[in-house]
Amino acid sequence: MTRIHLLPGKEKSLLRRHPWIFDGALKEKNAPVPPGETVAVCDAKDRMLAVGAWSPASQLRIRVWSFDPAETIDKNFFRRQIGRAVDLRRQLGLLDPAGGCRLIYSESDQLPGVIVDRYANFAAVQFLSAGAEFHRDTITDCLMELPFIDGVYERSDASVRRKENLPERCGRLAGTAIPEKILIKENGLTFETDLLNGQKTGFYFDLRSAREEVCRLAGNRRVLNMFSYTGGFACAALAGGALSVLSADSSAPALAQSERNLLLNGFEKNHRHVCTDVFELLRQLDSQKEKFDLVILDPPKLIPRKAAMIRGCRAYQDLARLGYKLLAPGGILCNFSCSGAMESALFQKITADAALEAGVNARIIKHLTQAPDHPTLLSVPETFYLKGLVTVIDSDNQ
Ligand code: SAH
Repeated sequence: MTRIHLLPGKEKSLLRRHPWIFDGALKEKNAPVPPGETVAVCDAKDRMLAVGAWSPASQLRIRVWSFDPAETIDKNFFRRQIGRAVDLRRQLGLLDPAGGCRLIYSESDQLPGVIVDRYANFAAVQFLSAGAEFHRDTITDCLMELPFIDGVYERSDASVRRKENLPERCGRLAGTAIPEKILIKENGLTFETDLLNGQKTGFYFDLRSAREEVCRLAGNRRVLNMFSYTGGFACAALAGGALSVLSADSSAPALAQSERNLLLNGFEKNHRHVCTDVFELLRQLDSQKEKFDLVILDPPKLIPRKAAMIRGCRAYQDLARLGYKLLAPGGILCNFSCSGAMESALFQKITADAALEAGVNARIIKHLTQAPDHPTLLSVPETFYLKGLVTVIDSDNQ
């Protein structure tokens, strides 16, 4: 194993069990090690501290597999890590064979660059780092060893792979061929998912807890569901007794699948879809003086890079302001940000500014976040990303 040395004083974050080592912290940042190979990480005095995967193309030059320098990164290692991740999901009650969940969440499950989502008996995998790519076959074998997995499909068509100089790639990796559509159950609802063509791996399991909350809140309300994708919140709201739901998304295939999900659950009657840009639709609804009792705003990542911070913050504020303007007295806004770069406190401040601009008095009644199968590893705060605020405006507003 090649020994790579940290510059003096650069071991601090590693000693706090953070797995990312940037090129600037390394003495041999251009070592001739092939992508993904395991290297020994040593301090400036040549004491071995960890073992990690080498990624020559990325500024994030090493991702630590293990802080135990004696660890061998082999099939047993991956079997053990995957086993621990699966145990947590079992503990959380998320292994119902008819359901789905995130089985492995990258750094949070101490498998940097490995994402695995389970759709009933099928696994959708993303290999997002040179190290994950290097051990692709081993990880696939370990997934096939799980008694509840019959097939593994790769969805490594994520743009982050470019940073690691890896091509985007999709296709069957092992086991039974993956059906075009897979039905999964969640909270008594049925969802058709498309693991082959859907966004990310097909379904947003991270919103499970948020869907439960929307179900609880939606009774007798007129709901506006923006960035609706395949209808997760629409079905949850109608299951909770919503009077009506208006959903909008710019993706026609997502809305077609949403249509089928509403039908599957018998909710098509009180629902309407619009395929359009949400920012435009909100302005149009506002100019028509439309009112709703529950507005859900779940946009895509509006701050994909630090450089997009200011523009992204403005977009979040714009959305929340328009959302508040569309609320009837006593109405509820659920607004989300899945941008990791957006701190919780800042999101709350932006939402507060939006309420001021809209002329409403609003109170937070609940904080929402990513579901527990997307846990935040305390030593890696970057694994926290999803913020949701449930705010209610005064019933004597206006
Ligand atoms: N709320 C969804 C997940 C939202 S993902 C759920 O419950 O599953 C973000 C969605 O926003 C995607 O479906 C994407 O197609 C859509 N989108 C992105 N930009 C948009 C825009 N400007 N107007 C409308 N939809 C947009």
